[in-house]
Amino acid sequence: MGQAKHKKVTQQAMLETEERCIYCAAAPSTIEHMPPLVLFLKRQRPKGLEFAACLECNNGTKGADAVAALFSRISQADQDPFWENGDGVTLRHTVERDAPGVRDEVFDERKATTRWMRGRTGVLTPKAVIHADGPLVKAYLDVFAAKLGMALYRRHVGKPLAMDGGVQTTWYMNSGLSEKTALAHLSILPIDGSLKQGTFTAREQFAYRYNCDEKSIFAALIGLNSNFHIFLIASSTPEKFMLPLTMPNISATTNFLRPGQLVDHLATNAPRPRRLLTLP
Ligand SMILES: [Zn+2]
Repeated sequence: MGQAKHKKVTQQAMLETEERCIYCAAAPSTIEHMPPLVLFLKRQRPKGLEFAACLECNNGTKGADAVAALFSRISQADQDPFWENGDGVTLRHTVERDAPGVRDEVFDERKATTRWMRGRTGVLTPKAVIHADGPLVKAYLDVFAAKLGMALYRRHVGKPLAMDGGVQTTWYMNSGLSEKTALAHLSILPIDGSLKQGTFTAREQFAYRYNCDEKSIFAALIGLNSNFHIFLIASSTPEKFMLPLTMPNISATTNFLRPGQLVDHLATNAPRPRRLLTLP
């Protein structure tokens, strides 16, 4: 059997055996890659971490994947603004298509400021300051983090996160994750995970450390392109573990979402602009 055919058969079998979408109660009809393909822009993504999802969740949360891919690639240490060059341009089009409004929020011309920063070579260069604190970015990244939690829960617990379960997520942009916070998280996460296909891994793009009881709770610290980190705890019995936890020592904001809430969360917090019809 050819590789493409084999892949199709495996994916078909997954859709037939999975009881529901990993993100909601609907029957699955599509294959969802989590981490998403867009994160591996122009690089090969190892096979694996493919899940069964419904069409509405798969399509309706694409914007979250695009925004996460963008923030995982923006580095203040880069010589040139990533957004304006090379790979960044392709990603920019994806963000504009799947997450309209984010571009204006992040690179708001009216709020635009330039700061002189030291690049990788040590030379001071002017850089546009990026606004990552807007409501659209927050909504998209909260949903992305919850998706990742539900997918990795499915992978490590062996079944989808229960409908009355939930994922608590906290994300850190760029160098926002302090060493102290990272060490505090890592102390409870002993197991190393990544996306592997034989000996081919993509640790630079996606790596995580996790802990899991293989029954009802999964926790992980995930690094995406080393620029964007997510700490998450997913549980099918969140009340038993007193989730969402209050994290007084952690300055980043935390969020809690349940299966079935992702598409609605975006519709409410990151509504797509209505297209205006212009008459000739
Ligand atoms: Zn769904």
